[in-house]
Amino acid sequence: MPSPPGPYVTGLTCRECGRPYPAEALHVCEYCFGPLEVAYDYEAIASVTSRERIAAGPTSMWRYADLLPAESTDPVSLGAGFTPLVRADRLAAELGLGELWVKNDTLNPTGSFKDRVVSVALTKARELGFKVAACASTGNLANSVAAHAAHAGMQSIVFIPSDLEEAKIVTTAVYGGRLVAVEGNYDDVNRLCAELAGEHPTWAFVNVNIRTYYAEGSKTLAFEVAEQLGWMVPDHVVVPVASGSQLVKVHKGFDELHKVGLLDEEPHVRVSGAQAAGCSPVATAFLEKSDLIRPQKPKTIAKSLAIGNPADGWYALDVIRSTGGGVGSVTDEEIVEGIRLLARTEGIFAETAGGVTIATLAKLAASGVVRPDERVVAYVTGLGLKTIDAVSPHVGPTVTIPPSMEAFAAFMETESGR
Ligand SMILES: *Cc1c(COP(=O)(O)O)cnc(C)c1O
Ligand SMILES: [Zn+2]
Repeated sequence: MPSPPGPYVTGLTCRECGRPYPAEALHVCEYCFGPLEVAYDYEAIASVTSRERIAAGPTSMWRYADLLPAESTDPVSLGAGFTPLVRADRLAAELGLGELWVKNDTLNPTGSFKDRVVSVALTKARELGFKVAACASTGNLANSVAAHAAHAGMQSIVFIPSDLEEAKIVTTAVYGGRLVAVEGNYDDVNRLCAELAGEHPTWAFVNVNIRTYYAEGSKTLAFEVAEQLGWMVPDHVVVPVASGSQLVKVHKGFDELHKVGLLDEEPHVRVSGAQAAGCSPVATAFLEKSDLIRPQKPKTIAKSLAIGNPADGWYALDVIRSTGGGVGSVTDEEIVEGIRLLARTEGIFAETAGGVTIATLAKLAASGVVRPDERVVAYVTGLGLKTIDAVSPHVGPTVTIPPSMEAFAAFMETESGR
């Protein structure tokens, strides 16, 4: 009998002082206010897990259930994860790189990587007895929470900045939960939600009181890439940074694979971050060689990354520095050019966050931080249809003609001259 998939969680530990806590809806240490982290019995996992066991699992992120912190026999899942890893030779040639891959996470159920973290968060929330799913969101998280809550038959109440893209509002509201648009930026929304979480302990705020579990979902971005590369790790990954959680967990994911014996060699993955110039607290601290992440007031079209006071900013900076990566930041124009470059070279249409990743990759390649002798993976985390306004002024029909053969022939005539 194969052992059942299940959480090998031993509890929670404070990332700062190491104090242990039970695996409940806790997220900060009572003693030092450090963030809590899920602790696993890696020996037990190593004794049950194998490449074969994973290959025989579902074609979703839940194939890595042994390394996730929730009961996986019936997860809250719309099928997130196991997205394509696309070899990007044409983009690599444009950027002067060698072996480049794009992790196409635009293909998740609600069009962003947030489905991974939400699937874990709501599975755990349901396990802990919560009936209401909530979140503070820059857009994609609200979208994903509303969809997964609808699917799980949970109530939802999600909070967004009121100036979000229309597509993100519509694609969230359609699921029928409560959608609260707050007049302010994400950091205002987040502050409000931190207070509300205290008032409403029966609400599962996925990125507040359930954050410890939620964040673990991002590790599957590393697990999948390693499996898709034939159980090898890349030399260098480029990850977009909002709160910094995803970047930190991608790094942790590669490490854990080694800990449980799924890799042949110890991984040495350089981790680089990507930010918008209009919201670049981590990139700025890196440039200034400072340990202090100074909060910024965001002003960028990359709204899904617009967190001016990133909860995991310091930890992201630490991963970037300790792995020998870099961080770049890119302007709104460069973001749009990044979206168009990825689309025209690889046929992948990303939202502004994906434009940030690709434009930053281009910068890091030009400055020699990302090198042509490296196997590189760029994480493209959201779908272009969500931020269509970013590119709609720049693209359109090649020509508009009357329905006649002559008109088309005349158009082809001008084309052949090009
Ligand atoms: C939220 C988000 C990110 C970054 O997430 P953090 O873990 O907060 O850094 C990246 N890309 C997209 C599309 C997102 O919605
Ligand atoms: Zn502590």
